Amino acid sequence: MANVYIHIPFCQRICHYCDFPKRVSKTEQIDEYLLALEKEIKMYQLREKLDTLYLGGGTPSILNEKQLHMLKRITSQFSFNNNYEFTIECNPEHITTEKVNFYKEMGVNRISLGVQTFNDRLLKLLNRGHKKTDVINAINIIKTSGINNVSIDLIYAIPMQTMENLKEDLEIIKTLDLTHISAYSLILEEKTVFEKMINDKKMTLVDNEIEAEMFQFIMKNLKEIGFKHYEISNYAKNNYESKHNKIYWQNQTYYGFGMGASGYLGNIRYYNENHVQSYINKIDQNQCPIMNQDQLTLDDQIKEEMLLGFRLMDGIKIEEINNKYNINVLDYFKDQITQLLKKGWITIDQSIKLSETGLFFGNEVFELFI
Ligand code: SF4
Repeated sequence: MANVYIHIPFCQRICHYCDFPKRVSKTEQIDEYLLALEKEIKMYQLREKLDTLYLGGGTPSILNEKQLHMLKRITSQFSFNNNYEFTIECNPEHITTEKVNFYKEMGVNRISLGVQTFNDRLLKLLNRGHKKTDVINAINIIKTSGINNVSIDLIYAIPMQTMENLKEDLEIIKTLDLTHISAYSLILEEKTVFEKMINDKKMTLVDNEIEAEMFQFIMKNLKEIGFKHYEISNYAKNNYESKHNKIYWQNQTYYGFGMGASGYLGNIRYYNENHVQSYINKIDQNQCPIMNQDQLTLDDQIKEEMLLGFRLMDGIKIEEINNKYNINVLDYFKDQITQLLKKGWITIDQSIKLSETGLFFGNEVFELFI
């Protein structure tokens, strides 16, 4: 069994909040990049069948027809297990019937749409390339083409967003037939347009109390319409939890291919070259594009397992972690656990998990395990 992430680091425009590894697209460079990607994957001679394949970005949906055929050649190197999950991230404005049919031919069975909000004024502020109507059209096209597993990304606590705006987003969501929602609060990242606007006092961040109110509102409303809250920022209907993302949260191994991608194999976490041209050059010279790798000690691995496990609503299963690392986790982290129990931020039964109050202090909890 194997899991694969492939990074397509190109975007047509740069969103004002984004610090992901990406470049504004240039057709020729994308062609070269896809050739390099194909070569990198071949270097690994991966024989295992895949449980999950995730094409993320950047914006994989900007690829033109020729590039899509190159991508198909790349993904056809893999074979899949039954019940595999194959996701592609798309921007709503790129969705056409032809593209979705092509994705289906490639084996894609899940589409993750970068929606962020349905409010056209806020979409403009975020510098997204779509409007509310593009999202509705995209979802209709995807469903009509026969891909039923559709996830959307939502951002809340956007500067200038009101509770009323968020309520309108949730009202629209109720009318859509979605299987999965990822809802993240806006994080102010370094070297973004938003950071400059905040520093120049052109706008202000949503205050913490309103952000917490928004988080609560999303949790409550999605639960009411049948979504299970299974990870701090993720909600799924009818067992459509993201199999691929659970690999990360359950600290399982995966391959990462492409510029800026990371992977986790054995006890090694590796990071690929973070610049498109350097990545392409390395592959052209038959060099491995890994730029950095960390060999995790047993203590690192246990801490990572805690950090990631706290993100899941089911938490960290005590027996599993004890058996996996031959420890008694309650002793291993005695000080941290005592402190968190005192604050009421965690609960313990068969698992250790964040309490309802603890959900609002996730970052403070994570810090104790770094
Ligand atoms: S948010 Fe997505 S589409 Fe926007 S710049 Fe970042 S990677 Fe590109």
